Amino acid sequence: MTDLPPETRPETLSVHAGCAPDPTTNARITPIYQTSSYVFDSPEHAANLFSLAEFGNIYTRIMNPTNDALEKKVAALEGGVGALGVASGHAAQLIAFHTLMEPGCNIVAAKKLYGGSLNQLGEAFKKFGWETRFVDADDPENVRAAMDDKTRVVFIESLANPGGVVSDIAAIADIAHAGGVPLMVDNTMASPALCKPFDHGADLIVHSTTKFLNGHGNAVGGVIVDSGKFDWKAQGHKYPSLTQPNGSYHGAVLVDALAPIGPIAFIIACRVLGLRDLGPAMAPMNAFLALTGMETLYLRMERHCDNALALAQWLQDQDAVEWVSYAGLPDNPYHAHAQKYLGGRGGAVFTFGLKGGFEAGKALVSNVKLFSHLANIGDTRSLIIHPASTTHSQLEGDELIAAGAGPDVIRISVGIEHIDDIKADLAQAFAGLE
Ligand SMILES: *Cc1c(COP(=O)(O)O)cnc(C)c1O
Repeated sequence: MTDLPPETRPETLSVHAGCAPDPTTNARITPIYQTSSYVFDSPEHAANLFSLAEFGNIYTRIMNPTNDALEKKVAALEGGVGALGVASGHAAQLIAFHTLMEPGCNIVAAKKLYGGSLNQLGEAFKKFGWETRFVDADDPENVRAAMDDKTRVVFIESLANPGGVVSDIAAIADIAHAGGVPLMVDNTMASPALCKPFDHGADLIVHSTTKFLNGHGNAVGGVIVDSGKFDWKAQGHKYPSLTQPNGSYHGAVLVDALAPIGPIAFIIACRVLGLRDLGPAMAPMNAFLALTGMETLYLRMERHCDNALALAQWLQDQDAVEWVSYAGLPDNPYHAHAQKYLGGRGGAVFTFGLKGGFEAGKALVSNVKLFSHLANIGDTRSLIIHPASTTHSQLEGDELIAAGAGPDVIRISVGIEHIDDIKADLAQAFAGLE
């Protein structure tokens, strides 16, 4: 296989991008390079690699050929200039923010985010002296109001977990740019099969590959993608990791040193500073599993979304169900955004409310047989959870409701099984509530 022509469609890229036959063995599938380190050709070669005069493999904390294939595939699907694979979605966020932030600076983030991200940004990052200002990004003007000269990045999810919120990416990107900062989008729930944040003005993307990219629930991982579009130098010295001399590279300024190769300063900084120094490297085995899973991304997302829409419509007619919140339904407040940003799809994860409240929620998750009761999304299998008694059980009353996890709320991640079997399982589980 030679380089893919520029018009290659995404379905083809998901199979082929980054995955030429192995150059040394001719193995068709990218092997798992289960090695910690790589032999240098000569002392000069070694010196060049360490000074970034030449790119190449040194040590698997920084790069690995299996991970490289995954990075190329995700970069190709998102339309970025480069990507970096790391140990988890949270590691991707940590390293991406670490590259942008300094003590005393702030992140303006949507309030409706994955629960783990609320903890990471709101609690863990405080220890670095980074403040996160959470705003209701349903009105993008709230983002503008929260920004000041210490803001370094705006952070949203394209499709927010779990409430099915679809962000107005283009409007929020304009506001971030007006304030001289990049927009970073967590595209985990939508995946590039539904949403291409760079096409709408986003500058940086993070993924948990654990979810739909891998798609099979068998390996944790994360990826950062750089659009190459943000002009770091135009912002003075707001981003010193990129624009100030770097002590660990003989005083090199990354934006200048890398300019001859391309606008890749951010993603290289994530690798040669963030990943090198903080250390959450992706296991090559996990990159291999994500690569295999991604070959069917487009097929799976189509089936996930078809099933989710059919199930949401069916749930609206069930006696036990009070309400259904799914962006794919025409009466949903986010339906117009789903048309603009998700190709009219609503994704595979949504919530519905049970008339029977808290006790009915606990009973439903015990009654299901085909659904797995667990805390994950984006598996081929249908998954179910009752947030109020599990992931959000530390919250009470109004807090639960504000988090979209009221006592009656059930969250499901609809799998790729036959829709009739999915409905039949919920039907028997509802019957058991009476
Ligand atoms: C799961 C998830 C994460 C965190 O990813 P991990 O791989 O579990 O670290 C971040 N964002 C979203 C939207 C997620 O669903």
